[in-house]
Order: sequence, then C-alpha cells, then structure tokens
Amino acid sequence: MTPPPFLRATAISKTYPGAHAGGLKETNLSIAKGKITAIIGESGSGKSTLLKLLYGLLSPDTGVIEFKGERVWGPEQKLIPGHEAMKMVTQQTDDLNVFAKVRENIAAMLPHTDLKAKQEKTDKIMQQLKIAGLAGNQAVNLSGGEKQRVAIARALVVNPEILLLDEPFNQVDTSFREGLQHDIRQAVKELGITVVIVSHDPAEVLSMADELIVLKEGAILESGDPKTMYQSPKHLYTARLLTNCTVLTKEEAKSVGLKTKAEHIVIYPEWVETVKTWTNNDWTIKQVLFKGPNEDLLLEYKGVAIRVLNDQFGKYTEGMKINLKLNKWLEF
Ligand code: ADP
Ligand code: MG
Repeated sequence: MTPPPFLRATAISKTYPGAHAGGLKETNLSIAKGKITAIIGESGSGKSTLLKLLYGLLSPDTGVIEFKGERVWGPEQKLIPGHEAMKMVTQQTDDLNVFAKVRENIAAMLPHTDLKAKQEKTDKIMQQLKIAGLAGNQAVNLSGGEKQRVAIARALVVNPEILLLDEPFNQVDTSFREGLQHDIRQAVKELGITVVIVSHDPAEVLSMADELIVLKEGAILESGDPKTMYQSPKHLYTARLLTNCTVLTKEEAKSVGLKTKAEHIVIYPEWVETVKTWTNNDWTIKQVLFKGPNEDLLLEYKGVAIRVLNDQFGKYTEGMKINLKLNKWLEF
C-alpha cells in the first residue's frame, strides 16, 4: 500500500465575512516530504490564509487537510490550534522573551525532564543557525535578522516534521537575507524537515525552494520547479512576480521592430545584449543604475523603455546610443 501524501489539502476554501470577501477559492494541494515548497503571489492573493489553513489556525469552509493521512483540525474543533508536528514562524517575532538570553529562549521550548538532551539540542541548533556566538546575549539587543534566526531556532529545536514560514525575512536587512536563507535551507535539509514558505518576494525563495506554487486572487495559477518556472512561466503574472522584467504590449513591440501575434511580450533583463553597430543604434541609454555585481541599464526607443543587465562597468554612459540584440523573449 502506498503511504498517504505527506501534507494534502483537498478542495479547501475560505471566505472571510465582508463585502470584499477575499480568502481562498477551492484549492487542492500536495506538499512533498523533505521538500521546501514556496508559495508566492502578490499581496492579498491568499498566501497567509492558505498557510493558516494548512497549520490549522483557521478552519476551511469546505474541504479537508490531512497530515500523513490524519485530519488537521481548525480552531473550532480543537482547543489549541496547530498540529503538534508543525511549527509556524511569521514575520513578527513577538513570542521571544526579550529579557531572556538567546540560549534560554531556545531551551525553553524543550521539556525539563532531560537536561543534558536539552542542552545538546539547544547547542546544536544554535550552531546550525550560526547564533552560538549570541547564546549569552539578551534577545532585546539582537538585530532583526538575529531575532529571526532565534525564532526559527525555537521552532526547529523541537524537531517538527513541518516548518511553516510566513514572509520570515521581512524584518531582515537585505544584505543579511541571503545568508539566513542559506543557513535555514542547510539546517532543514540536515534535519529532514519539510518547509512551506510564503513570500511576495521571489528573490528570497528562488534560491531556497525545491517547488514553487503561484497564487493569484485566492487560487493556484501554476506550480513547478523554480528553474523551469523562471525560464518558461505559463502566465504573465508569474513572470512579473519572478523577475523585474520588461512587459511590452503588442503595439509597443511592433513599434520597436518585434512582430508578434500575442498580446504581450516579456523580456528579462539578462536576455538582452547591448551591442554597438555601425547603423541602427536606435536605443538611448536613459539611466545607468549601479547594482553591485552589475548595472541595470534603462534604454528607450520610440517611447518604449526596456531594462537590460550589463556587467561591463563603465562601458555605457547616459545619453549614449546603442543597438540591442534579443536572445530570448516570452509571448503571452
Ligand atoms: P496574502 O498573505 O497573500 O497577502 P491574505 O491571505 O492575508 O493574503 O489575504 C487574502 C485576502 O483575504 C485579502 O483580500 C485580504 O484582504 C482578505 N483577508 C485576509 N484576512 C482577513 C480577515 N481576517 N478578514 C477579512 N478579510 C481578510
Ligand atoms: Mg500574508
């Protein structure tokens, strides 16, 4: 007999009371064991609603949620919401005891019965999340990123089977996000924990996720592995969500020499090559934005603007006229 799916939602929906009833339309979903699944979508698309339903913090109006074949009950059926085998971390790290030390905050999650195990587990998770050096610091003195590491360590130290994360990096400085994402990925993979992460920012999930689910207006639009979805999204909405791309209407595309039958053409910044030719240097460089490892060029021709990635620093300056070569584009 095949085992039941790890975490499965069948025909779940949730409507909030009120005129602008948002929520979640009837949705089916299956989360694979040991994988990091990222749910992405613009603000208000139902990401938090879906996560709360999976966790049992909200009861669905219809449908069922099962964890290893066992029903997950919502707050109406169960006194303490949330399944024991699941842990949820949100962008607020309010449940930290700010006056206690980092070590105490994490150890407090474990039972008092085996002090040796308590210490060992606390030490191990602090090492995995690179906060061992902060063990003796009061939580009140930590940065946003450090607090988030502690919050995640508190969730992981009890060895949950599923970790649910709702926009966990919002309070973390951009420059520290990548390191945190990498350390979380490493830790959950080592521990074999299944992760569902919700985000409106693709940059933070593309490098972390094994599987992407795109939500739009309370419904799943598409899902798949991050690379495939990035290279060939099925929907314009997904492309827009995943990258800072240029979207041209059919008319705009035509006016700059791209013929298409589709309504829209989507061009990713890395698909455009800048070239200087003898003729047809039609595009004007309007802006050169320094981005660290590369530059973002904003080019214009006949009122059409296009964003281009450039790593040849100093080659282009504002006002210059150049030619473009398109290596790839998408049609929607
Ligand atoms: P996301 O997390 O993707 O930003 P949410 O799941 O929080 O989206 O919300 C989805 C939709 O449901 C939004 O339109 C939001 O306004 C609405 N919504 C969320 N929570 C409530 C609530 N408690 N009461 C009424 N409407 C809500
Ligand atoms: Mg949300």
